[in-house]
Amino acid sequence: MVSKKKFMTSLATSAALASVGFATVGQVVPQFGSNVQEAQAATSAINDYINANNIQPVSIQYRTGTFNKYFGYENGVGKPEGVVIHETATPGASAEDEVSYFSWSWPTTQTYVHAFVDDKEILNIHSADYGVWGAGPTANNKYIQVELCRVSTKDQFARSVANQAYYTAYRLVQYGLPFTPGKTVVSHNDVSRMYGETTHTDPVGYFAAWGYSMIQFYNLVGKYYNQLTSGSNTNGGSENTNNNNNNNNSGTPAKGVIKVNAPNRYAVPLYQLGNDGKMTIITNRALANNTPWQTDQIKVVDGTTYRRVATNEWVQQSYVIG
Ligand SMILES: [Zn+2]
Repeated sequence: MVSKKKFMTSLATSAALASVGFATVGQVVPQFGSNVQEAQAATSAINDYINANNIQPVSIQYRTGTFNKYFGYENGVGKPEGVVIHETATPGASAEDEVSYFSWSWPTTQTYVHAFVDDKEILNIHSADYGVWGAGPTANNKYIQVELCRVSTKDQFARSVANQAYYTAYRLVQYGLPFTPGKTVVSHNDVSRMYGETTHTDPVGYFAAWGYSMIQFYNLVGKYYNQLTSGSNTNGGSENTNNNNNNNNSGTPAKGVIKVNAPNRYAVPLYQLGNDGKMTIITNRALANNTPWQTDQIKVVDGTTYRRVATNEWVQQSYVIG
């Protein structure tokens, strides 16, 4: 949510739910195949519902908003660094309602965002090439910002988060940004913790009311990100190499979905295979604990078994838990 007086009564409630922390590790996006639905079913009833009912996001509608403060991001016009996920904390207000409200209220409330989504519409009301006023000065100079409207049924919630996740993925792809949960996609709660300029914790509490979490939302963003990029990914042809090895000692097939967890670590380390046949650790990225990944190859290097989760990114078999 953004700072406006009519929402103040809800702040105490959402603050009480602020204790949930999310790993801000770089998370690779694997080349998801048809098994992605199985992986998500294991982690989220809402994502499972979206898949089972074949819920598709709606198209983005571009409206001319009233916000006339055009300022570039810290890296320049047309150079956002990611997307902030908000929710409005206003039951009963649709995306259309919020757009109407913000169209006249922003000079007074000093707040504005790029887009509102609900279960039926994605309404973009300010060019994402420019910043908005949604989450404090530091975040406003970095991020595109999208608000999720509150709805009242599970079906509506599923459709609304599908729309918000799609909008997020679309913007990442549009601006050539990687999908890195906690970095290029952050909650307002993350922003409050990172920069200390706001105290809002959305959308964590509202998500939780539906049994949903940012981690599960990330899975949904990843799904759309992959769908949007798969058609233009010229590297895709190199995925199906012929060196799958099912004679491994893991007891599991080479291809499928694996869940990884490193109980004593902040995240599951990733390795890359060098031309010399050696594995080296990737220092700037890792997989979030307890997350599912598509895998298609197994390789044993120096006595250690690795599973491939991206073009040249591997996890140790010892961190595979299912
Ligand atoms: Zn917010």
